[in-house]
Amino acid sequence: MGSLTIGEFARASRLSPKALRLYDDLGLLPPARVDPASGYRFYDPDQLEHARLVAWLRRIGMPLARIREVCGLAPGAAAAAVRAYWAEVEADTAARRDLAAFLIDHLSQTGKEPAIMSNASLAIRYASLSDPGRVRESNQDSAYAGSRLLAVADGYGDRGGPAGAAAIEALKRLETGALPAGEILNALEEAVRRAADDLMEAAEAAETAETPEAPESGTTLTAMLLTGSQLALVHIGDSRAYLLRDGELFQITHDHTLVQSMVDDGRLTPEEAASHPQRSLLLKALAFPSGVAPDLRLHDARPGDRYLLCSDGLSAVVPGPEVQRVISATADPGQAVRELVALANAAGGPDNVACVVADVVAQG
Ligand code: MG
Repeated sequence: MGSLTIGEFARASRLSPKALRLYDDLGLLPPARVDPASGYRFYDPDQLEHARLVAWLRRIGMPLARIREVCGLAPGAAAAAVRAYWAEVEADTAARRDLAAFLIDHLSQTGKEPAIMSNASLAIRYASLSDPGRVRESNQDSAYAGSRLLAVADGYGDRGGPAGAAAIEALKRLETGALPAGEILNALEEAVRRAADDLMEAAEAAETAETPEAPESGTTLTAMLLTGSQLALVHIGDSRAYLLRDGELFQITHDHTLVQSMVDDGRLTPEEAASHPQRSLLLKALAFPSGVAPDLRLHDARPGDRYLLCSDGLSAVVPGPEVQRVISATADPGQAVRELVALANAAGGPDNVACVVADVVAQG
């Protein structure tokens, strides 16, 4: 078979002539030959496979710039790149599903009698602790607990520790303001975006110095802010928040990791994920140059509830049942955080640890 006109190639590849012209302009799929007199494009039949790959990648919504990268890779690496892209799509969808659920709930409640009195006076009893562990020389984890704010951050890279501390500082400014529940999520997201902007400026300043190829720095952030009778949650990365209610411990955050997305897909069991060599590979973090899209949610705070926030230095090191035992049996939050950190260190303390324990109590 000789060369194909753009119409013939479009029919064979299921891409429109308009798309083919665009892909030519973008250097994604240049024709084999362009007639110098007429400007007509001609394609070789052996370009069909490349064209079909482009069409399939468009169908899963991959941006064109990323398609160009994938098309330049060997098949094995291309498969890995598509897998990583799809894991990001699913993490993003999961976050938007949570936000949609919140909005449905919020709008359904608007104009009705609140189920819980909004002037209910709730407070939290809290403790926080961070520890370098037994192996690392420095501590890039941060933990903070105050009368309205609970937060843990797990930094990575050269500037990760300060980035985590700065992200928590940005949230502390919300602790003193009185924001209605409807605005609290926007305020949290805005604070996180500002922290990400600061991190980007620090990265740019560092890159103009002697380290143009400095590895990416960033931080996880999992935080809760008490407002009235609700706790607003902001979460990005693989630190975790758990809720102890009626004797059961529930993880209320979703890890933004590659292995968690593989567990969600049914391609890994949770046990396999726990020992996977890439188990700490984050899909999302508060980082530059990655985008920042934290999960945001409101929880009704109930007297008697206990929250645990921790970095992976605890959750990846101490088995869940051990954590539940300490959290259930230790009344004082200060003693609980000390015991949890001691358990991580007794298990070798391979990573920095940050944890916060907080009880919701009725004020009266
Ligand atoms: Mg860690």
